[in-house]
Amino acid sequence: MSYDHSNIFAQIINGTLPCNKIYEDDQVIAFHDIKKAANLHILILPKGEYISFDDFCANADSATISHFFKTVRQIAKDHGISDTGYRIVANHGADGMQTVPHFHLHLLGKEKLGGFGSAGSESHK
Ligand code: AMP
Repeated sequence: MSYDHSNIFAQIINGTLPCNKIYEDDQVIAFHDIKKAANLHILILPKGEYISFDDFCANADSATISHFFKTVRQIAKDHGISDTGYRIVANHGADGMQTVPHFHLHLLGKEKLGGFGSAGSESHK
């Protein structure tokens, strides 16, 4: 699978689609999710053309990966949720229900988040 240059997040990164931006540097951009699943729901993306978590971990260099995850930590801290707690989620591929083919993390917080009760099928319960 090759990178789709017209995906929604590519358009946000190149400035052709607006977003509710909360952070940007030369490697990372973060903005509020358009359909929030928690009181605070931020999407955090590397600007590089990585399709998924798997692609990012396999192909980004260590400095890029390190900078990305340290930025995620700093954004959580800046939003006052380091002590209260938060969840970071990466949906990968079809079974993971990834809908936008540019790697991103969901940062969720500012409330007591539910468990993973709705995840998966009944067969393994
Ligand atoms: P995923 O299902 O993990 O690929 O997550 C994609 C996320 O992008 C969903 O939570 C959507 O609500 C969100 N989303 C889609 N379009 C936009 C947009 N234009 N601005 C902000 N968030 C968006």
